[in-house]
Amino acid sequence: MQNAALRHCGIAARYARFQIRRSELPEAVDRARELGFIGLNLTVPHKSAALQLLDDAEDNAQIIGSVNTISLKDARIVGYNTDGVGFSAAISEEWESVPLSDFSVLILGAGGAARAIAAECVRVGCAKVFVCNRTRAAADALISDLARLGSGTAMQAIDHSRDAIRPAMSAANLIVNATSVGLQPDDKAPIDGDLFSAAHFVYDTIYNAPRTKLLVVGQAAGARIANGSSMLLQQGARAFEIWFKRKAPVAVMRAALRSVVP
Ligand code: NDP
Repeated sequence: MQNAALRHCGIAARYARFQIRRSELPEAVDRARELGFIGLNLTVPHKSAALQLLDDAEDNAQIIGSVNTISLKDARIVGYNTDGVGFSAAISEEWESVPLSDFSVLILGAGGAARAIAAECVRVGCAKVFVCNRTRAAADALISDLARLGSGTAMQAIDHSRDAIRPAMSAANLIVNATSVGLQPDDKAPIDGDLFSAAHFVYDTIYNAPRTKLLVVGQAAGARIANGSSMLLQQGARAFEIWFKRKAPVAVMRAALRSVVP
């Protein structure tokens, strides 16, 4: 989608993939700067480690604790996290009638994607945010980091159990899977189907399948569902705008993405 955007805008640059070992990241960023790269996207496992290499980072990247986008302009390494804004743009794209700020949100997971999504929910002023994670300590740490944002959002970490999820499902209307459960075709739904109702909106950040098991059980209960391809698109569009300081050709990027992602 980035190469489609570059072609469409007549920018003489290419977007390419490089596999970098954990230990090679500092050297890779230095080389990219020396070679005149405009910027980088980073994925697992480099998103947190990259924070140490930056000259500057936008505030939300510090709170989230990770960057997925780096700008290398003017010999400065500046880090951004576009997953959160990508998520809120995706929600607007999927369900035009309801802005993210109108939802109370249950987030499954407390890793990089969950942290970005939770910080965005707090930033836009969602009334309630629940975080449910297999490792409770990571959910607690996320809630305590979010509290530093000092907003009016009520935030709560909950146990990874049916008893804890049930009341959160009653209080929340947007359920977001930001775990890696569902990446494999035989993964089970991370929430039992009988806890869903037609009042729920279900967003799965996973984009390698049109419908994960979570989306299947949510849809069967009448909930509205969407997979993570809209977030993938929108986080990439924000990255393009950071690198080139111009509006991203989102329709062109969406068409390119749809040709490879379900
Ligand atoms: P991380 O490794 O940072 O976090 C993984 C999360 O999944 C943790 O909360 C972990 O819990 C949880 N988890 C892993 N295995 C299990 C399991 N068996 N049962 C319950 N919970 C589990 O990864 P990311 O945050 O980077 O990615 C998470 C998901 O978000 C992925 O599916 C990825 O594809 C998606 N994503 C989508 C994007 C998009 O643009 N659509 C962008 C970025 C990510 P614990 O703390 O207990 O280990």
